[in-house]
Amino acid sequence: MTVSAKTAALQKADSAHYLHPFTDHVDLAKKGARIITRGEGVYVWDSEGNKILDAMSGLWCVSMGYGQKSLIDAATAQMNILPFYNSFFNTSVEPAIELSALLAEITPPQFNHVFYSSSGSESNDTILRMVRRYWDLKGEKQRKTIIGRKNGYHGSTVAGASLGGMTSMHEQGDLPIPGIVHIDQPYYRENGLKLGVSEDEFGLIAAGWLEDKIKEVGADKVAAFIGEPVQGAGGVIIPPKTYWPEIQRICDKYGILLISDEVICGFGRLGTWFGCETMGTRPDFMTFAKGVTSGYLPLGGAMVSDRVVDVLYKDGDFNHGYTYSGHPVACAVAVANIKLMKEQDIVNTVKNDTAPYLKKAWASLNDHPLVTDAQSEGMVAGLIMLKDKTKNEAFDEKDNVGMICRGHCFDNGLVMRAVGDRMIIAPPLVISHAEIDELVGLARKALDATLSDLKEKKII
Ligand SMILES: *Cc1c(COP(=O)(O)O)cnc(C)c1O
Repeated sequence: MTVSAKTAALQKADSAHYLHPFTDHVDLAKKGARIITRGEGVYVWDSEGNKILDAMSGLWCVSMGYGQKSLIDAATAQMNILPFYNSFFNTSVEPAIELSALLAEITPPQFNHVFYSSSGSESNDTILRMVRRYWDLKGEKQRKTIIGRKNGYHGSTVAGASLGGMTSMHEQGDLPIPGIVHIDQPYYRENGLKLGVSEDEFGLIAAGWLEDKIKEVGADKVAAFIGEPVQGAGGVIIPPKTYWPEIQRICDKYGILLISDEVICGFGRLGTWFGCETMGTRPDFMTFAKGVTSGYLPLGGAMVSDRVVDVLYKDGDFNHGYTYSGHPVACAVAVANIKLMKEQDIVNTVKNDTAPYLKKAWASLNDHPLVTDAQSEGMVAGLIMLKDKTKNEAFDEKDNVGMICRGHCFDNGLVMRAVGDRMIIAPPLVISHAEIDELVGLARKALDATLSDLKEKKII
């Protein structure tokens, strides 16, 4: 593709100096980065002036859309008043105090305290330290093991990547660290179909893998279980309805702490303030980041339940903290974001209006020759492209069908993410019906273009 001189120069400098997250740099150097320069509502524009419908909310975060003036004003005002002060050693800042009280109000009743970081990864690192310290203080020092799930995603730091179950990450850098083990994910198509059971039965079986693992490790050695209500980066894996209540029952039975990683599902994405409310669990920790500021500034944190706070903060220092814990500008933006969400009653709008509309529109893609399992939960949705959907036959990995489709999406003005051959979306919560129609129309166009590519290449 020929591009303007300005774009070409940017791409050259980008490739020469900028190491990108999760990017094949050989491929990047060949093709050049797409440079996003501007955003408004649910749309972004690239340096060539192309308008693109951002069905991924940036990276699952721009929940209230681009260009929200109250968020911009909150940041500007706070920058002028006090751009930074820390919360170490008996100091505090107003925006962090205000945000903490707001979070205590909108989170489930067991949560009245929050610890801040700047990202989801750091928040999970924080929780890992808190979990182990909690059991030490309880006099159960042998409880160290945290159980996560294969294909779960909890960030990219050493602890985050270890808690997550991405083999491609574990292979690079001797992960997971000791004391973290994984069970299989509750993905019906991959793990359930072959068992010949219903989805609901499968949910109970998949939750049972936690109990099996607890017995294998030793019930007195397991400290916590961590999971995303709906796995995001793993490909929008929506668990059967029976799964999470059974996980809760097992955690209760063995007295194990439950960590709900709400970095994607939190702040309204599933049509409840937090994903655990949709799934029916009572976690001891919630990880948040992304949507808390609609991505306008980096902020993350851990909601810590009363049960844990009562132990962890009753005995001197917990020696842990980040320079930017409770950053005043990030917290001011989060306050403005949550206030805007409340003003617009966005959580109920998602639940009663936008999500049902998306569900129906997205499911209409199931009639496409490539598409199976076009499903959604709240404002996350996924589908899988199969070589032969009547036989549940997958494409060969080397055919890179997901990447072909992703390319056609971008070329047609739509951001849709590929995870293997699953195509996934998480649009801004503020998306309108007309924009959802446009999104699904563009997705169908990209699927059609993918199908003709595959026929041309004789893959299908
Ligand atoms: C994105 C994500 C993280 C990591 O957050 P960062 O801000 O990228 O460190 C953790 N957990 C989940 C579920 C995520 O989606």
